[in-house]
Amino acid sequence: MSRIDEKLVPIFEEVLRRNAGETEFHQAVEEVLESLGAVVAKHPEYIDNALIERICEPERQIIFRVPWVDDKGQIQINRGFRVQFNSALGPYKGGLRFHPSVNVGIIKFLGFEQTFKNALTGLPIGGGKGGSDFNPRGRSDGEIMRFCQSLMTELYRHLGEYTDVPAGDIGVGAREIGYLFGQYKRLTNRYEAGVLTGKGLIYGGSRARTEATGYGTVYFIDQMMKTKGESLEGKRVVVSGSGNVAIYAIEKVNAFGGKVVACSDSSGFIVDEAGIDLELLKEIKLSRRERISDYPCLKGGGACFSEQGSMWEVPCDVAVPSATQNELNGSDAAALIRNGVVAVGEGANMPCTPEAVRLFQAAGILFGPAKAANAGGVATSALEMQQNASRDSWTFEETEARLEMIMRRIHDSCAETAESYGAPGNYVLGANITGFVRVAEAMQAMGVI
Ligand code: GLU
Repeated sequence: MSRIDEKLVPIFEEVLRRNAGETEFHQAVEEVLESLGAVVAKHPEYIDNALIERICEPERQIIFRVPWVDDKGQIQINRGFRVQFNSALGPYKGGLRFHPSVNVGIIKFLGFEQTFKNALTGLPIGGGKGGSDFNPRGRSDGEIMRFCQSLMTELYRHLGEYTDVPAGDIGVGAREIGYLFGQYKRLTNRYEAGVLTGKGLIYGGSRARTEATGYGTVYFIDQMMKTKGESLEGKRVVVSGSGNVAIYAIEKVNAFGGKVVACSDSSGFIVDEAGIDLELLKEIKLSRRERISDYPCLKGGGACFSEQGSMWEVPCDVAVPSATQNELNGSDAAALIRNGVVAVGEGANMPCTPEAVRLFQAAGILFGPAKAANAGGVATSALEMQQNASRDSWTFEETEARLEMIMRRIHDSCAETAESYGAPGNYVLGANITGFVRVAEAMQAMGVI
C-alpha cells in the first residue's frame, strides 16, 4: 500500500496515466513522493506552482533508430534513448546503459533518480540518462565500435558540454566512451572534452573516475556506520555484481579492513570465505570479459559458484547491492536481517525493492539509498568536467580527497534533513527531500519552466 500524502495522490495518478506500463519509473516516482508529504506541508507553494508535476515530467525525451552492420554483414537495428530530465541545476548529466532490458521506462526511472542524485552532490549538474537495448555480450570489438559510432551519429546533435554530458552505466565503460567521443569529435570537428565523462586518462579523463562509484558507496557506508560508533574493520561483506561499481567497492572495503566473501554476475554468484581475490576478479571481468563461474577453477580451490539460490542468504554484516534494479527483494531483505546485517548501501540504482527498503527501515538497519550512496560516480564526473573546463589534470590523491569530502557532505546533509523532519537516521527521506528541494528551489527562481 502506498504511503503517499493525500495531497500528492492526484499527481501520482497523473504520472501513472501519462506513463502507462513504465513500472520502474512509477516505482522511482512513488518512492520520492512518499517522502514529500512533510515538505509540501511546509511549502504549499510547491503544489500551487505545480513544481512536483513539472519535476516528474522530463524536459525532453529522444528515441531513435540505431542501425549498424554486424561481423557477418547483417544489418542490425537497435533503439537509442536519451531522456533529458531536468536542467535546473546544470547541463543534463547521466550515463548511457547498453543492455537488452533497456526501454523508455527504465531510462526514465534512471533519469529521474539521477536528477536528485546530481542535486545531492552539490555540483552544477542537471539530470539525464540514455542508452540502448543493444546487447554487448558476445559482440566483437569492431561491432561495439560500429554500434557506438551509429548511436553517436544521431545523439551528437543533442549533446554539448553546456547541454548534455553522458557517461557510462551498465554495458558502457572506457572502451565505449572512447568510441563515442571519437565519433562526436569527427561529427562536430570540435575537441570538446567536457561533452562526455569517463574518458581515458590519455584524452581528458579524470583519475579516480573509474573507482569513484564503488569507493564512494563504501565511504557512505563508513559514514553511516560511524554514527553508531561502528566501522567496516573486520566486517563480513557481500557485494552483488562484479562490474565497475562492485569491483571498486570490494577494493575500498578491503582498504577499510573488511572482508568481501561473495559477489556475482548474471550467471550466478561465488562465495570465497578467504575473501574475494580482487586481482583474479579483475582479470576475469575487466581483462577477459568472462563469466564469474570461471573464478573457483582459476582460484584453485576454496571458492564455490552457485547458479541458483539467493546470494543474500550468505551471512554478512554489510550488504552492498551493486548489480541492477530490483535485485534484492523482500525475502532477501528478511534473510539478511535474520543473519544480522547492520548496514546496507546501494551501489546500483534502485537495487532494493520497496518492500526490502521497508523491512530494512523497520528493523533499524542503516540503509543508504542509491541516490546518496552511489553519487560518488557522477560527482567525480563533475570533477572531470571541471578539469576539462580548466584544461587541467589532477592527481589521484587530490581527486579522491575531493570525492571523500563530497561523500561526507552528502551523508551529512541527508542526515541533517532527516533529523530536521523528525526522522533521524532515515537516509531515504533525507536524500529525497534534500535533492528535491534543491531542484525545486532552482526551478522556482527561474519562473514557469
Ligand atoms: N551511471 C552513473 C550513475 O548512475 C554515472 C553517471 C555519470 O557519471 O554521469 O550515476
